[in-house]
Amino acid sequence: IFAGPIQFLKSAPSLDHLPSPDVPEIAFAGRSNVGKSSLLNALTGRTSLARTSVTPGRTQELNFFDIGQPLKLRLVDMPGYGFAKAPKDMVRKWRYLVNDYLRGRQVLKRTLVLIDSRHGIKDVDREVFEMLDKAATSYRIVLTKTDKIKATELDAVYAAVGDEVRKRPAAHPDVISTSSEKGMGIAELRAAVIESI
Ligand code: GDP
Repeated sequence: IFAGPIQFLKSAPSLDHLPSPDVPEIAFAGRSNVGKSSLLNALTGRTSLARTSVTPGRTQELNFFDIGQPLKLRLVDMPGYGFAKAPKDMVRKWRYLVNDYLRGRQVLKRTLVLIDSRHGIKDVDREVFEMLDKAATSYRIVLTKTDKIKATELDAVYAAVGDEVRKRPAAHPDVISTSSEKGMGIAELRAAVIESI
């Protein structure tokens, strides 16, 4: 699937702009600066599929990318969350957009929630887990930037994150460790994406 051409399909600032639901979708979510754009680029082998963020938390749109030929998979880049200086109405807009998408999207197969391995799970991530659990939509945790911490620290955060997500009803029990920079865990992530569609 990932060897085929990739096409930016569209941006949806609201639900009436969603593409027609005819292809399975995998969504990517995470705090601003978690490394989401880098991971999408590493996953697809592109250098500029998703733009790395200039102004964190600015983009409030769902971005859709079609992958594979014939089209069999769509990647959905969700707007980053947890930007400290985000105005309240922006946070509210994010919640409405994402919640409506999560609850209503039949073709959404799984959401990958990215967690910076240096920081672990924050309360703002837990709020997102809560949304996903309540929407009863499957999600899985992906640790990012694992090249930035020592192996012993990674073991500890991997165990702690795993313990926490295994208490969550809609979360996949296994966590994936990645580094877009070093290419670690990317093959496993690809396999996990394909497995979930
Ligand atoms: P986004 O805001 O979630 O899309 O995050 P970006 O992909 O723009 O990444 C934020 C910052 O983290 C950038 O400076 C990236 O170069 C850096 N970054 C992303 N992934 C990695 C990684 O795997 N390792 C390292 N060392 N840095 C990374």
